[in-house]
This record gives sequence, structure tokens and C-alpha cells, in this order.
Amino acid sequence: MAHRPRLIVGNWKMNGTAAALGEIEAMAAAAAALPGDVTVAVCPPATLLDRARRVAGDGPLVVGAQDVHAEPDGAFTGSVSATMLHDAGARLVIVGHSERRADCHETDADVRAKAEAVLAAGMRVVVCVGETAAERDADNALAIIAGQLDGSLPASATGLAVAYEPVWAIGTGLTPTPAQVGGIHAAIRTNLVARYSEAGEAVPILYGGSVKPANAAELLAVDNVDGALVGGASLTAADFLAIVRAA
Ligand code: PEP
Repeated sequence: MAHRPRLIVGNWKMNGTAAALGEIEAMAAAAAALPGDVTVAVCPPATLLDRARRVAGDGPLVVGAQDVHAEPDGAFTGSVSATMLHDAGARLVIVGHSERRADCHETDADVRAKAEAVLAAGMRVVVCVGETAAERDADNALAIIAGQLDGSLPASATGLAVAYEPVWAIGTGLTPTPAQVGGIHAAIRTNLVARYSEAGEAVPILYGGSVKPANAAELLAVDNVDGALVGGASLTAADFLAIVRAA
């Protein structure tokens, strides 16, 4: 079983104002004491990026963003480019989250263009894939995920992480069994190696969907689970750090 460096990413979604910066300060202090093979990232709303970076100081806590526009600049009201996110302190960006695929009608091609923009700006990118409950019930999960990987992944594996997030597990308290997670992650690994050759072995594959302090150790022990993408439980330092310590 390959041991890859761990990557734990917190996604705050549309939550958090300046009052929440103390949580990031606590995460930064804890990140400084972690072993070198565990990387922790927190992705607050874009409005907090700059302040989060300042609060995190020069330590190893990575501050990241939840989305990006694929174009570098121009007439795209309300959008933020990869260069702007980098300028505000981001060093990692989540793309293709199922909430954006569903709510904002983002296609695989959109997600790939965003991923390429993030890598070109010198940041790490987390590309999310995952099936809905209906797709799983119809025994289509693997085909759906393979299609998302084919359409969404960037040309280079450098700086890439993939997050497997079953849509039905996000924010529901439901999780697949460790055996189910292991089966999907093994299929994603096979896809990555076929696509990127040896570099595909090193791409971290994160599991996301109702990861909590109580189930983190079990999920992170599964082969090819190299980290976690954490929503609700990343909003407080206490819960998030309990997950990080299980890594
Ligand atoms: C997410 O939003 O990526 C997520 C996994 O959320 P939660 O942990 O709350 O299910």
C-alpha cells in the first residue's frame, strides 16, 4: 500500500465573516506542529482570503479558494481570476464542486478550463467528482466518475489533487462504507495512472462527504484515500483539527 503525503482541505462554502478568523488562527497554530507529510488547507469565502492569509502568518497552513473564473481578466462581473486569488494569498483552489456543477450549471469543460487556469497561476488544484444517489442506485457511479475525470482533469498531474465526493454524502451525515470508498478510489487511481503514467501514482485522492471526527480515522485508513475534503466539520478548529490528527 503506497503511503502518500496527506492533504486535508476545509471548504467553508458561503460561511464566515471576520468573526471566524480566530478559527483560522487556531488552525494555523496547530498546522505548525504537524508532521511534514501532512498538509492542511482551509478555503474560506473569497472575502476572507487576504485576512485569512495574514492571520495564518508564514506557517504551513495553506489558504485556498472555493472556485475561480477560467479567464485571466475581462468583463465577467462578479467573478475572480486565478491571478487575483493568488494575489489575495490563495495557494490552492477547489474546482468542480458538485454544488457548483449543479447550482451554476458548470460542465466538465468549464471545470477543466478552471483547473488549467489555477495550475497556470502556480497554485494547487482540487478537482471534485462524484455521483448522485440516482446514479449510484442505477449502478452508474463508476461510469459517471470516469466521464467526469475524462472531461475535467487538466493536462498535467503536477499540482493536481482529485476529490471523490458522492453528492448524496455531502452535508447529509451519510457516508459510503470503507469498502465502497476503496473501490471508487482504486478505480480513480487506475484512471490517473492510465492518464498520467507514473505521475498518476502521486496524485492525492481525497474523500469528501460528511467526514467528521468520529469517522475520519476509518475513512483515512482506506487504501488510496490520501486525505479529505471537509465541509461542515471544517468550520470550527476543534472539529477540523480532530480530523487532521486522524490523518
Ligand atoms: C463539501 O462540501 O465538500 C463537503 C464534503 O461537505 P460536508 O463535509 O459538510 O459533507
